[in-house]
Amino acid sequence: MTVPVPAPGPRPVDLLVRGAELVATMDDRRRELPGGWVAVTDGLVSAVGAAGDPPPPARRTLAATGCLVTPGLVNTHHHIFQNLTRSYAPAVSGSLFAWLRTLYPLWARLDEEAVYVSAHVGLTELALGGCTTTTDHLYVHPRGAGDLIAAEIAAARELGMRFHPTRGSMSLSVKDGGLPPDSVVQDPDDILADSAALVAAHHDPAHGAMVRIALAPCSPFSVSPELMRATAELAEKLDVRLHTHLAEDPQEDDYCLATYGRRPVEHFRDLGWGGDRAWVAHCIHPNAAEVAQLGAWGTGVAHCPSSNMILGGGLAPVARLRAAGVPVGLGCDGSSSADSASLWLEARTAMLLGRLRGGASAMSARDTLEIATRGGAACLGRTGELGELSVGAAGDLVVWPLDGIAFAGALSDPVEAWLRCGPVAARHTVVAGRTVVENGAPVHPGLDDILRRHRTIAIAIQRNP
Ligand SMILES: [Zn+2]
Repeated sequence: MTVPVPAPGPRPVDLLVRGAELVATMDDRRRELPGGWVAVTDGLVSAVGAAGDPPPPARRTLAATGCLVTPGLVNTHHHIFQNLTRSYAPAVSGSLFAWLRTLYPLWARLDEEAVYVSAHVGLTELALGGCTTTTDHLYVHPRGAGDLIAAEIAAARELGMRFHPTRGSMSLSVKDGGLPPDSVVQDPDDILADSAALVAAHHDPAHGAMVRIALAPCSPFSVSPELMRATAELAEKLDVRLHTHLAEDPQEDDYCLATYGRRPVEHFRDLGWGGDRAWVAHCIHPNAAEVAQLGAWGTGVAHCPSSNMILGGGLAPVARLRAAGVPVGLGCDGSSSADSASLWLEARTAMLLGRLRGGASAMSARDTLEIATRGGAACLGRTGELGELSVGAAGDLVVWPLDGIAFAGALSDPVEAWLRCGPVAARHTVVAGRTVVENGAPVHPGLDDILRRHRTIAIAIQRNP
């Protein structure tokens, strides 16, 4: 008697997320699939289906019953090391410039261990809030501190987060008319050499890359025009992206007019930065002509709602920027200006600020989800690859619970409910098909030990000079 050999079935996918209340794909058609599912294979989305479509066999299945599934949120601006000086009492009521002057001497104590541990904590915090890809703008490189960017990349690789660290820099100290003390600025040649070395060592241009490097002089008041220009040229040569702060504070307008005889956006243009290789943080104070100019260039903007509010910086013209064609993403900004780092919270705050500025129809939850996903992907030059659940895009997604007291009675629109109700954190956060957060908890073990190390380092950094 012969035993019939079953015909080989389709190859099982690596991960299947199924049974969602709604899958908001954020694909080109913005499809929303009640009862939908998402399959991930080899780190990329391999299929997306609606309730009636039979899902493929899978090696692993995550139930998303009663949940909203969205693409992973993209964080376009952060300074993770600042979680070592969160809510630092002497700085809490200062303007941006006063806040910076108070904290620079503390940040001068950073080293590889401090950056590794702060990145571990910061990246875990982001994953819990639904972030799957984050940038980091690490602009303090004290003399002798070691390879700080490599230290934070090590943390991201261990945790499985998709990471875009930017090689920040400061070259203008107080003695040159800048804001930072001498101990945290570097020689421009050293900065450029280190930037090129980091790109050579870590930058992956491939589709689905987990690590990419960008170059990020800090701001017009801490970097010389020559270094700004040379950095733009180096980024062009290496084909990597450019990032900086721009139009964050009215004092920046005064500084640029007094020092350079032009407004910040004009300064940015004259240094060769106007273009779609760059995305800038904050951009609260561009005038109407500058908004149009940024749109024509395709320069991206990282909108940082909590930080803009906590520093009293003002209301960024998000709707006008988007209408002008500016790719707008979301940023939680550094952990000691906006001291929390939940992109869900930033998304909700962006929605509220948009409505405060432009009225009840000015910003919906869907507009905000688009900023937090596709907008962020565009800022990072990864349109079609991140921020959407379509076949071939990165397998990065979030399963958001819509249950319990906070969502009782929210029956008719899971996307609006997601931002109007809450607070909510991710039930599962998936990066490249692997869970980073599962059932609301980090997958990587050892968080308690990392938090103990973080506290010890934070105490040392916050000690009196
Ligand atoms: Zn910033």
